[in-house]
Amino acid sequence: MIRDNRLTKEQYDRNFSDIHPPFETRDAALVDANRCLFCYDAPCTKSCPTGIDVPKFIKQIATDDIKGSARTIFLSNIMGGGCSRVCPVEKLCEGACVYNLMEEEPIPIARLQRYSTDRAMQGKWPLFVRKPSGGHRVAVIGAGPAGLSAAHVLSREGVDVTIFEKEEKGGGLMTYGVAAYKVTPEYCAEELDYILSLGGITVQYGAELGKDLPLEQLREEYDAVFLAFGVGLARRLDIPGEELNGVVDALRFIYSIRADGFPSVPVGDKVAVIGMGMTAIDAATQARRLGAGEVTLLYRRTEEEMPCTKAELEIARLDGCRIYWLAAPCEVIGSDGRVTQLRCEKMELGPPDASGRRAPCPTGETFAMDVDMVIKATGQMPFEQMVDAGGLSHHGGKIETTGLHGITSLPGVFAGGDCVNGGKEVVDAVQAGKLSAAAILSYLQTV
Ligand code: SF4
Repeated sequence: MIRDNRLTKEQYDRNFSDIHPPFETRDAALVDANRCLFCYDAPCTKSCPTGIDVPKFIKQIATDDIKGSARTIFLSNIMGGGCSRVCPVEKLCEGACVYNLMEEEPIPIARLQRYSTDRAMQGKWPLFVRKPSGGHRVAVIGAGPAGLSAAHVLSREGVDVTIFEKEEKGGGLMTYGVAAYKVTPEYCAEELDYILSLGGITVQYGAELGKDLPLEQLREEYDAVFLAFGVGLARRLDIPGEELNGVVDALRFIYSIRADGFPSVPVGDKVAVIGMGMTAIDAATQARRLGAGEVTLLYRRTEEEMPCTKAELEIARLDGCRIYWLAAPCEVIGSDGRVTQLRCEKMELGPPDASGRRAPCPTGETFAMDVDMVIKATGQMPFEQMVDAGGLSHHGGKIETTGLHGITSLPGVFAGGDCVNGGKEVVDAVQAGKLSAAAILSYLQTV
């Protein structure tokens, strides 16, 4: 049965407490910092999409230069604090650490990164100085990781930036789409304030491209426009019964946990989550932590092909979520307008498809499971109509750009992050923002 307010305040607090707690003492951080081998040609840095100089910032911690360490991190990744909480580090920096080759625990890079960045943010350290305004004005659409990253680089160089954000808060998916036990809404607000404390960046909330803001008008009013509006609604399952009460979109579910508070979010007793990406895991584990009795993740391929990391899968397993591999939903069954069962088809793997992974093929064998809530987490769709209406070249709504620098088909219009790549990690969006900012700065020399 779907209901809210299932647990006591203490239970909510315990279930949603920080999953990666920080170092408790300076000594604990120093012990790990001093384990680092400060590798030449460090593989950890090479596997960070933003190229943070990991051995350098760890060395700075080891020598008690925490300000220097935080600056090293923020120079490459202004959301280095948030990324230290949400990055899948086991497949990035920590997964590349040479200690893995020696079958020893890798350096806890994310925790050390958090050690420095937390101190910088708590102390409100002004680690960057904005150059005097050069008179150029740039509009950024979206206050998510790509938009904020570009805005910070541009403002440091003396560009006056206005960010237009359709939501009431900034931070994008970091604020609205990640499990609350990884990063709290309060932290996201502090991170945003810290980024904006540089100056030269104004944010207008409740302003949506296309609706309140025609792209043509922005192009006339600003010297350049950077599009970083992410992706939109959940991909449909396109199966009968999808409209029944109790079938919800994973991002909306996660959004309401963060926006409305734990006790207000309705959750079922028997919940099925469709998908096996990070959003699916975040939805499943949070459904359990809100008090759902049974949570089952369904994925049409196997563990070999799943998009989430093994560490994320382990969190779901430890939270007691069941997993059905090789199962695809084919019908949502209901009574009185509410979902009561989910019918699934068993799959088998065929030859690889366009993604390079073995394709799931229906076997014709079906099974049904009793559920009172179905959470859809099979990805999000690009804003195709809006992109099309703006006159931009695109592939199925994903904005077409030249090279890595976000140059679109319209002069003076740049794009980066999920609206270009269809949805990747926060750290990828930060890097896209940085690269586009560099291209915008070159472009501004010509106007
Ligand atoms: Fe330090 Fe590991 Fe990076 Fe080497 S690979 S520099 S040991 S964190």
